[in-house]
Amino acid sequence: MVPKLDVRRANAEKKYTGELCFTFEAEPSLVEIPFVSISSPVEAKLRYAILEDDSVEIEGSLAFTLKGSCSRCLRETEQRVSGEAEGYFVPYGEGGEDYSYSNGVIDLGEFLRDSVIFLTPARLVCSENCTAPDYKEE
Ligand SMILES: [Zn+2]
Repeated sequence: MVPKLDVRRANAEKKYTGELCFTFEAEPSLVEIPFVSISSPVEAKLRYAILEDDSVEIEGSLAFTLKGSCSRCLRETEQRVSGEAEGYFVPYGEGGEDYSYSNGVIDLGEFLRDSVIFLTPARLVCSENCTAPDYKEE
């Protein structure tokens, strides 16, 4: 489950910083490598910081496993992917580079989708030495 960050409540409780650790199922459409999908829930370890103007910085790491056909040799393979994720949320913002939120609650869904897409490599390869079968044109 993707938690929502209730900025209004966090402010009321003076919890201006905190941690969000959770797992969620990524939508299959996020991975565009043919015959490859995310085989495990995505693990998120995030920290948030609410600034004085109610904008919110979120940063941390995501980890997940890609499984499917090697993009070169088509053998079944899997790869652990992990990396940094960060986002900046402004209340009632008008797009731009930042995420916006309204009604005092941040929905992390779009940020997490963007981060998974960003971390997913362009292709899945079973090993660095993998060489594709030699298709010779006769
Ligand atoms: Zn391979």
